[in-house]
Amino acid sequence: MKTITLISGDGIGPEVVGATRKIIDATGVKITWEECEAGAKVFKKGVGTGVPTETIDSIIRNRIVLKGPLETPVGFGEKSANVTLRKMFEMYGNIRPIKEIPGVKTPYSGRGIDLVIVRENVEDLYAGIEYMQTPGTAECLKLISRNGCEKISRLAFEFARSEGRKSVYCAHKANIMKVTEGLLKHTFEEVAKDYPDIESGNIIVDNCAHQLVKKPEQYDVLVMTNMNGDILSDLGSALIGGLGFAAGANIGDNIAMFEAVHGSAPKYAGKNNINPTAVLMTGIMMLRYIEEFDAANAIEQALFVTLAKDKILTRDIVGDVGAASTTAFTDAIIGNIGKTYETQPKRNYKPLQLPRVSNDAVVAKQRQVDGVDIYLENNGDAKSVGKQLESLCNGTRFSLKTMSCRGVKVYPAPEVEIASTDLYCCRFMSSDINDGDIIDLLQRLSAKFHWVHIEKLNVFDGVAAYSKIHGE
Ligand code: NAP
Repeated sequence: MKTITLISGDGIGPEVVGATRKIIDATGVKITWEECEAGAKVFKKGVGTGVPTETIDSIIRNRIVLKGPLETPVGFGEKSANVTLRKMFEMYGNIRPIKEIPGVKTPYSGRGIDLVIVRENVEDLYAGIEYMQTPGTAECLKLISRNGCEKISRLAFEFARSEGRKSVYCAHKANIMKVTEGLLKHTFEEVAKDYPDIESGNIIVDNCAHQLVKKPEQYDVLVMTNMNGDILSDLGSALIGGLGFAAGANIGDNIAMFEAVHGSAPKYAGKNNINPTAVLMTGIMMLRYIEEFDAANAIEQALFVTLAKDKILTRDIVGDVGAASTTAFTDAIIGNIGKTYETQPKRNYKPLQLPRVSNDAVVAKQRQVDGVDIYLENNGDAKSVGKQLESLCNGTRFSLKTMSCRGVKVYPAPEVEIASTDLYCCRFMSSDINDGDIIDLLQRLSAKFHWVHIEKLNVFDGVAAYSKIHGE
């Protein structure tokens, strides 16, 4: 008997999660549901995270969660309870299948779309680390770790193996962000060597978006960083009939939380006309994760029979006239358990082997600092600022190499047309410098300029660990 933490959630949550629970129970699978609260009601009780201690304890105990959508009511709590849960349990992988559903007509019907997006879930720009560097310029940090890239790449390959899939492609923007997106691309290429049974490759993410609209059936598993995955997986949902069919799983080393992509759709709450398929398909993913393959297959087949053979469809597919209510649709699926839609099973599902990646620090055998980028708040003429900085370097171990504005060189020999802002990045080079040299330079600068922040120009194992400035 497996115990699962069940969070019904807000809005339509109780209807769609309730329908899924009823259908899973109807297969006879041995599950005990531990009902817990999170979301709007909890925020309103004054719990700032939206997740009470009893729910956290239940998740730690059971390790598997089936969750409905959660709301963050205006005026209560700063952060969403969803994000809190994902981060609290380091659920680093978000798996979103995008599969044509029999009986659900879309412009892509008949093309056999059956792909999975594996999205990194805790790093990247979505860490939400932001600063106004000056009153006129904002910054968001895109932090990507080598270990995080290895984990998500391995998860993608392991997931492919668990479903007998043939290929894994890494979608990235390493042509522009060579250091951050490049870290995923290079790490993915290293990891791919451990999976010779699976075809691998990479694609630039904007082309991937284009290909997903043009020929989505060409893909099997796609892995990508957080923001790219967020955008492309929503695009993918639209290819198969919309949010009513978009399932998802959040995977961590110790905890897995299964939740559909859609939110609480409050305007439909309590109306008994919402489509529970997305949560049901999420429940199917959960059953496979806990190795209840027969129950998962039985529900999937019953769902397909209901949609494609019996043509029992909810309002989001057929409109108001002739639509099945949520409860009628649920009962029809239960009535179809045991019937088959596909005579041949599409996939031979196996248990997902969670990757174990060391959290040890990545160590460089040899390191040096080539110089320092110092950001100055200044909207003066670049040439005049550049000359002043050059004379400030006299008597130090530094020389000014370039000044740039939003990544484009403005001094010396500027690019032709640059709209300047109030922030210059000034690149000072030297060799064999230490922190004392940098502090000395900052002190000299402080007398005349307002510096905002600095970045060391590290070289790790002989490789420059910083990007070149456009035009450098
Ligand atoms: P939403 O709840 O996903 O609803 C947007 C629209 O998607 C609905 O109006 C409906 O479209 C359609 N839809 C959603 N679920 C459906 C289903 N099961 N069957 C059929 N159609 C469905 O997005 P939202 O209105 O932006 O967000 C509402 C609340 O949910 C917000 O508080 C948000 O923060 C929260 N939210 C939570 C999660 C989560 O817990 N993981 C995720 C997203 C949003 P039509 O209007 O065209 O019928």
